[in-house]
Amino acid sequence: MTNENHRQLIIIGSGPAGFTAAIYAARAELNPLLITGMKLYGQPSKTNTIENYPGFPKGIEGPELGRLFEDQAREFGTEIVYDMVSELDLSQRPFTVKTYGTVFTADVLILAMGTEYNRLGVPGEEALQGRGISNCATCDGYFYRGKNVHVVGGGDAAVEEAIFLTRFADSVTIIHRRDQLRAGAILEKRARENPKIKFIWDSVVSEIEGENSVESLVLKNLKTDEVTKVPSDGLFVYIGQTPITDILADQIALDAKGYIIVDEHMQTSVPQVFAAGDVADPLYRQVVTAAGMGAAAAISATHYIEALKE
Ligand code: NAP
Repeated sequence: MTNENHRQLIIIGSGPAGFTAAIYAARAELNPLLITGMKLYGQPSKTNTIENYPGFPKGIEGPELGRLFEDQAREFGTEIVYDMVSELDLSQRPFTVKTYGTVFTADVLILAMGTEYNRLGVPGEEALQGRGISNCATCDGYFYRGKNVHVVGGGDAAVEEAIFLTRFADSVTIIHRRDQLRAGAILEKRARENPKIKFIWDSVVSEIEGENSVESLVLKNLKTDEVTKVPSDGLFVYIGQTPITDILADQIALDAKGYIIVDEHMQTSVPQVFAAGDVADPLYRQVVTAAGMGAAAAISATHYIEALKE
C-alpha cells in the first residue's frame, strides 16, 4: 500500500537552517518536504538588516534574505507546506508528523524549529504584550515615530535593534543589567556614537505600567537597590532566546539549556533524526552558522538515505 503522505525526508522549520537543508536535499533529489511553522523565515523575519551574511556587501533585509532562501529551495523542487507541526511521534518508523492540516510520515527528519524570544516575566508584561511591548523592531518600529522607547538587554540583538529604532524614535534607551554590553564591538561603537541612544546600566525592569499601552517602567538598580519610575512609549525586549522544542515532548536528548544535542553530523539522539540551526546551537546562532548546519544535516541525511537503498 502506498501512502501519499509519506516522504523520505521532512524538514521542520523555515529559517536559514531549514531552507538550506531543503536546498541541499532537493539538489540531492530527495524530494524534501519542508513544513514552515508559524514564523516563516525564522529569525531573519524579525531582523531589519543582516550585514554579516556573505555575498551581500551592503547588507540585506532579513525578510528579503528569507524570501531568497525560499525561492532557491523551491527552484530545486522542495515541496513547502505552510502549516505548523502539532505532534511528532518518533517512537516508531516511519516517524509521524502531524500538522493542523495533514498527517505525514517520514523516514528521516531534519529539525530546524529555531528559538523564541524570552520574556521578562514581570507584572504588566502579559497584559501589555503587543500593546507597547514587542520583540520585533523591524515589524513595530514604525509605530514609534517621534516617541521615546526603551530596549532591555545588552546582547547583539538588543543593540542592533536599538540602533534600528533610532530611525523612528526620538530617543532609545538601552536598559542593561550589568555595566558592560555583551554585544560585539562594532555594534557597541555604533550605539555609543548614536546621539539618540542612551544607556541605563546595572538595572532591570521590574514592572511595566500602562492602561491600554505602555506608559512607564519601574526600574531597579541592582547595585544600589534604588527603584525608579521612567515614562516610556514602548518596550523592546531582547534578553536572549529559548529553543522551540515543545513538539519533541522528551523524545530527543536536550542539553541543560534546552538545545537539541547533535554530534558533528548533526545527528540527534534518535537515529534518522537530524537537527540544525538555532534549535541545536547554544553557541553561535548566526544566519551563516545556521545555514551551515542545515547543509551538514542535509548531507548526513542524504548519506543515510543512500545507505538504506544499498
Ligand atoms: P544574548 O547574546 O544571549 O544576550 C542576551 C542579553 O540579555 C544579555 O545582555 C543578558 O545580560 C540579557 N539578559 C538575559 N536575561 C535577562 C533578564 N532576565 N533581564 C535582563 N536582561 C537579561 O542574546 P541575543 O542578543 O538575542 O543574541 C543571541 C545570539 O544571536 C548571539 O549569539 C548573538 O551573537 C546572535 N546575534 C547576532 C547578531 C549579529 O551578529 N549582528 C544579531 C543578533 C543576534 P548579560 O549580558 O548580563 O548576560
